Amino acid sequence: MPRFLADLRAPQVADLSAGAVAILPIGSIEQHGPHLPLSTDLVVADTLARDAATAFGDEIELVLLPTLAYSKSNEHAWSAGTMWLSATTLLAVLDDIARCLATTPVQRLVMLNGHGGNSALLQVASRDIRLAHGLRTFVMHPSLPPDHGGTAPASELGMGIHAGLEETSLMLHLRPDLVRMDLAERSVPEHLASFERVGWGRPVSFGWLSDDFGTNGTLGDPTGATAERGKERYEAMLAAAGESLREIARFDPRRPR
Ligand SMILES: [Zn+2]
Repeated sequence: MPRFLADLRAPQVADLSAGAVAILPIGSIEQHGPHLPLSTDLVVADTLARDAATAFGDEIELVLLPTLAYSKSNEHAWSAGTMWLSATTLLAVLDDIARCLATTPVQRLVMLNGHGGNSALLQVASRDIRLAHGLRTFVMHPSLPPDHGGTAPASELGMGIHAGLEETSLMLHLRPDLVRMDLAERSVPEHLASFERVGWGRPVSFGWLSDDFGTNGTLGDPTGATAERGKERYEAMLAAAGESLREIARFDPRRPR
């Protein structure tokens, strides 16, 4: 049975077990090109977390925390409507949430991150929370973006990282009412493919803002997106989340005796 922390009564919290896995979905409110809503990362992280809690909640003791809608989206600060937290604010919020969770019997916290721009900060938070509050911490993504070593359609040259084919297909599956395919445009900074050392997934990374590329805020090619593709991707993401959560529930870094 899935457990939604906010729906529990206080005495039920004391009955949670030390083996339970808390999931904190993290979304974002940020520009996603002209064709997708600001809530795109929020929709994906929130829906996946709920569906995973429902699908695997009988087998694994999962405790779903309310989704954090705002996160570190300052690469999109140029676009009105993007609502971003600074790195220090987000670190502080995560530390506060973890401190409160640590007062319950639950000892494992998974940050299910829907926004690639949070990844480096979540690695820092993951270790700091481990030290400060003793929780076992994990960071997972609905799917690994290409700039994090994930695969991407060849047509996007490894640059389909924002509002491109995969993300647009997912939204056509999850919330077609919020997608305007008539406004979707290919926006791939193709000249970057000629750099061998500097770039996403390359030895030298670079600090970037999403208006550095002269595109419309999209980084990728959403034009071939379909709901069918999105459904297939979503079902694969949900199955992978189940496998990850099963391992997280039994993961122990100590060498067995
Ligand atoms: Zn996104």
